[in-house]
Amino acid sequence: MPRTTLSQASAEFLIKMVADAMEHYEPRSSQIEMMGACAKIVEGGGLLMAEAGTGTGKTFAYLLPIIISGKKAIVSTRTINLQEQLAHKDLKFLSSLVEVDYAVAKGRGNYLCLRRLHAFRAEDNEEESEYRNILAWASETGTGDVEDYGVVRFALWDRISSDPDACKWKKCGHFGQCFYFSARRLWESAQIIVANHSIVGINAMMPEDSKLFPDSEILIIDEGHALDHTLTDQIGLNISNRVFDYVLNKLLKVGEKGTYKGLLSQSPNLFPAVESLKSEMELFWILIRRSCRDEEIISGPFELKEHLLKLSESVLELIENMRSATAGLFEEDEELELRAAIIKLKALSEAMEQFPEGMPGYTRWVEIEERRTALRMSPVYPRDFVVHSILPAHESVVITSATLSVAGDFSFYEHILGLESAIKKTFPSPFDMARQTAVDIRRGIDLRNDPDSIGKLADVVISEASRKDGGVLVLFTSRDIMKKTWEVTASALRELDLIPMMQGEHIQNRTMLEIMRESDNSVIFGLDSFWEGVDVRGDALKCLIMTKLPFEVPTEPITFARTEEIRHRGGNPFYEYSLPRAIIRFRQGFGRLIRSKTDTGRIVICDDRIETKRYGKKFLDSIFGQNRQVNLNVAKKFQ
Ligand code: SF4
Repeated sequence: MPRTTLSQASAEFLIKMVADAMEHYEPRSSQIEMMGACAKIVEGGGLLMAEAGTGTGKTFAYLLPIIISGKKAIVSTRTINLQEQLAHKDLKFLSSLVEVDYAVAKGRGNYLCLRRLHAFRAEDNEEESEYRNILAWASETGTGDVEDYGVVRFALWDRISSDPDACKWKKCGHFGQCFYFSARRLWESAQIIVANHSIVGINAMMPEDSKLFPDSEILIIDEGHALDHTLTDQIGLNISNRVFDYVLNKLLKVGEKGTYKGLLSQSPNLFPAVESLKSEMELFWILIRRSCRDEEIISGPFELKEHLLKLSESVLELIENMRSATAGLFEEDEELELRAAIIKLKALSEAMEQFPEGMPGYTRWVEIEERRTALRMSPVYPRDFVVHSILPAHESVVITSATLSVAGDFSFYEHILGLESAIKKTFPSPFDMARQTAVDIRRGIDLRNDPDSIGKLADVVISEASRKDGGVLVLFTSRDIMKKTWEVTASALRELDLIPMMQGEHIQNRTMLEIMRESDNSVIFGLDSFWEGVDVRGDALKCLIMTKLPFEVPTEPITFARTEEIRHRGGNPFYEYSLPRAIIRFRQGFGRLIRSKTDTGRIVICDDRIETKRYGKKFLDSIFGQNRQVNLNVAKKFQ
């Protein structure tokens, strides 16, 4: 009898078991095909880039072959919310049909540290009452995961959460009950670890003998388009006034009543040293703000090198002072906290020494915000890290997302992530985008150059929303434009009995989306995070207004470094980088509108470059294909 392949077994499971148990299950050929491709990789090893259009059902397409194979896997996604969805919805459902052992892995700071909890001393009544609540919760919770507790002030959680620098590991009296190490034991025994890109990056940075995760044959990177950003952000240096203030205030700060608080509050002989370092730091940041502008790239020698090295020396001096002045004086718990602060200061001092020289393949820049000043260094591409530190640890790797290519060409992410050797496959969306979507292009709005365009955009938003046929999502690429448009539309929208909401305006993104899902008259103004991950079906989201084609700002440091690199090797930065990046982003934004076979909606594009520029056609082609008939309407109202 011929042997059943993993691909056949997975498909059979899907068609028989899943289809029977799931309400409204719709068979999709692209899901079966993707499952077959994943099964081959799971069974025989290799690297697959799998682009799965909206509605393919990619999660089951990779989960079923893993489960049936019995092999150990890490499944990584972009955010904690998506992790929760994968575990508590998809894997929970599958585990009702077949035995599967899975565990969610979050960053260490998400777990309560029992040692720190019991050593904690509240600084005021408010803190005391919150502490009491957490203490009660600690005796009930099985996970110690802050998500299970709910909202807690960062300043408090930060002092009682698990921190590797303040951990006693096996010598800790709470080790047996420790939430973080209990979670690690679950990761060890689970067949599937549900992780996120950030913790996958941290794990890959760890030396071999202190990895967070056990050896896993399979790695799935879902939402693979987001891996670039997470890793680029994570690898490198981040020296900021915030990080310094955070560590130094832990050592010593002046409380509301003028009294000293912090770890060194009982060591007055150290006050001058801490105060002097704080002043030195402050002066340095003032100097940076005076001599640099936001996102200024440091391409040659760093002008303030001597200042930075001097500062690094002062940090090391303070560490020495603290070590000698506090030796034997502290209780064990305080000693551990002090040690944690010293480790963090040491890392900052090393970063300050490294920054002026830079590193080959890395770019350096300055970030200046209202209350934050930072020196940053990141790899131009994270490809070396992916190739040398992530991929070799697994026999089978699948990188999947709804947007990994430009019309089937994967070279953009292939180059950034070092995936040249991958098998590339596209599994099209089962939705009929051309039939389900109407595209409306508004001419004459130029948010880059024409100040009157805000008024024109406001007219579009109001006229679309006043059709009252469902919710509206307005996608912006600039906070400033978003705020200005909000100022001239919000009250008019309210007068129309609509519910306008703007990202960053008192209400959390998640809550905004909950309100939208429950109504059909919401109007959301959203930035970056609304271009992806938003899943609202039916009339709750009927119209998507794209205010501008999502080209990245060319002066943004990583974009600039990448386009320069392409220019140096004789390539064309616009066609090799800026355009594909914008098209992929456009596809992500577009993907918010049609979420099921029965969804219909319209997209209003307020950037006529999509029609007037030669490259503009590529945006719509990337959604509808080159030969598809689209219900296209070009409004010339503002010409
Ligand atoms: S083992 Fe570490 S993280 Fe766990 S309770 Fe003890 S100190 Fe905290």
